[in-house]
Amino acid sequence: MKKLIVSICIGLLIMPTVMTPNAYAANSTQPKKMIVIFADGKVNQDIILKAKGTVSKEFKHVNVLAVTIPENSIDTLARAPGVIKVEPDFEVTASGRTTTSGRVTAPPPAQTIEWGVRQINAPNAWSHTTGAGIKVAVIDTGIASHPDLTVVGGVSLIGTSYADDNGHGTHVAGIIAAKNNTEGVVGVAPAAELYAVKVLDRRGSGSVSNVVAGIDWAITNHMDIINMSLGSPSYSLALDQVAQKAYDNGILLVAAAGNEGVADTTINNVGYPAKLSSVIAVAATDINNSRAYFSSTGLEVEVSAPGVNIKSTYLKNGYATMSGTSMATPMVAGDLALLKQANPNLNNIGIRDLLDNIPPDQRVIDLGTQGRDSVYGFGLIQAR
Ligand code: CA
Ligand code: CA
Repeated sequence: MKKLIVSICIGLLIMPTVMTPNAYAANSTQPKKMIVIFADGKVNQDIILKAKGTVSKEFKHVNVLAVTIPENSIDTLARAPGVIKVEPDFEVTASGRTTTSGRVTAPPPAQTIEWGVRQINAPNAWSHTTGAGIKVAVIDTGIASHPDLTVVGGVSLIGTSYADDNGHGTHVAGIIAAKNNTEGVVGVAPAAELYAVKVLDRRGSGSVSNVVAGIDWAITNHMDIINMSLGSPSYSLALDQVAQKAYDNGILLVAAAGNEGVADTTINNVGYPAKLSSVIAVAATDINNSRAYFSSTGLEVEVSAPGVNIKSTYLKNGYATMSGTSMATPMVAGDLALLKQANPNLNNIGIRDLLDNIPPDQRVIDLGTQGRDSVYGFGLIQAR
């Protein structure tokens, strides 16, 4: 039994934990959701059918199939020619939680610039760069129609509509790009183009193959930035491969480090996909620039951003206050959109270096122990 990296709590609803198959009972014909990774050019649907399985998803940019197969076929399939790995299609969950401040609905409040957006210095950048023309895919629970948001496009990989039925994705989207108008809040990059990629359901839960499909979609549709305020403690080769493919295609990938942090900050509890080298792992800080108590720690943490009591757009044209590395991640995605618009000649690696303050240019405030550390990464991001 593996504990989920985090669950979003809606009222008293607590997400169930999930079994990750690590031992396959040889005699069971119970259908299992798995991911099959093939060698280059060796994707083979016939061997899935031969194993009495069905194919549920195909992908454009990786040699992978998501399948359902009887448990007792897994070992045979894993040894089939051209198959590199068969791995469980485990659960991935949103990395944010609503806090006590509740939701504002009508009437629309006068616009305020929230503390987190000010803390990273975003308003000072807006006279030069607002993220205009930068495409940001929000791989999440979808994005709701909202007067303070413009959603340019998107896709649902778990149904027909990318509208948000949870609230998490809408909250994340507002942190990136809520409009600079007269109502509500302002995002870090208020003119960035939002794309809703729905892979998590109304409970904030989805399968890792959905996330793989979301990244696959982002590559096909030429996104500039992918925001993933979600995670799992488990490694997936398919996720690793598609994230690397996106990175090789010039996309910036940002993900929540996770909300599994404990008092002992020497423990590594950074989740996936944040833990992957192709992905920027984001930790959360509070209004005092201290680590949020829940923020995961580990050497993969790359930068920090505000993630405690963040007000943003929510369901039913409202606003909500939420906390989590889920909220810190879109601060970084927004900052990357600002950097990308301001530096059109830099590729994703060059933009990532700017974010991380390489070479030194005061783009981060070093926190904690001097230099990069496993609590804050390079430090608190600063837009310029
Ligand atoms: Ca606004
Ligand atoms: Ca430091």
